[in-house]
Amino acid sequence: MNSSELAVFSNQMESWDPERVLLWALERFPGQLAMTCSFGGAGTVLAHMLHRHGTDVPILFLDTGFHFAETLQFKREFAARFGLRVIDVQPALTVAEQERLLGAHLYDRDPDLCCRLRKVEPLSRALVEMGVKAWVSALRRDQSATRRQIQILELHQVAPDHQVVKVHPLANWTRRDVWRYIERHGLPYHPLLDDGYASIGCWPCTERAVPGGDERSGRWPGKNKTECGIHTFSRKVDGATGGSLKADGVDSDAVDAGSVSTDTG
Ligand code: SF4
Repeated sequence: MNSSELAVFSNQMESWDPERVLLWALERFPGQLAMTCSFGGAGTVLAHMLHRHGTDVPILFLDTGFHFAETLQFKREFAARFGLRVIDVQPALTVAEQERLLGAHLYDRDPDLCCRLRKVEPLSRALVEMGVKAWVSALRRDQSATRRQIQILELHQVAPDHQVVKVHPLANWTRRDVWRYIERHGLPYHPLLDDGYASIGCWPCTERAVPGGDERSGRWPGKNKTECGIHTFSRKVDGATGGSLKADGVDSDAVDAGSVSTDTG
């Protein structure tokens, strides 16, 4: 399926509910589908939808070595409760090895490099090695200005010889939609979402959301960075570059006083 055909499908899907989009992807890419999830927000909604359909789609968790203890515990509990097949994707270097080679606190000195080493490169390698042809993530247009233009389906070049269809079933959902799903299904959610955090990534780069700011306003505070890179490193095949987002960084998820965001970064 080329990018023009995908665009036609994607436009049709604007009126579909997310579950129907997921089912389409499952049928279209049997055994070649994977999802990324950081367990901080709306990714858990998509994981729950996959669980409801009895799939064993691999759920890739980017194990940066800098996650909150609460994230790791919640991930374990959520995965066990719903029988999810979670794969911890590891960077090439441990945190200790990275610090020996590049010094401590790289996340302060060069967060783009830190994200590249601990998120982007491990993910792109995993997508290629696992033969993933469709990559599901919980990006939403209402999360931030950098995500306004995402389409439900997008064709991306993630490596010189490897393309994937990015699938964004929640693209046109709002934080309120996500929260409604969590309430309707009685889903557990990340405990820090009740503590003022609206988007949860690595602890050195995550603070509570800024009052009045978007849900990713607590990510990389004080830095000119809003994305970790996992959604901007690839080349969108229709000619645009830098992924489906406005590149400046890259990543993941959230909820605030009743709102959730995406999972991936
Ligand atoms: Fe490093 Fe921060 Fe990126 Fe995590 S979010 S990989 S700690 S720069």
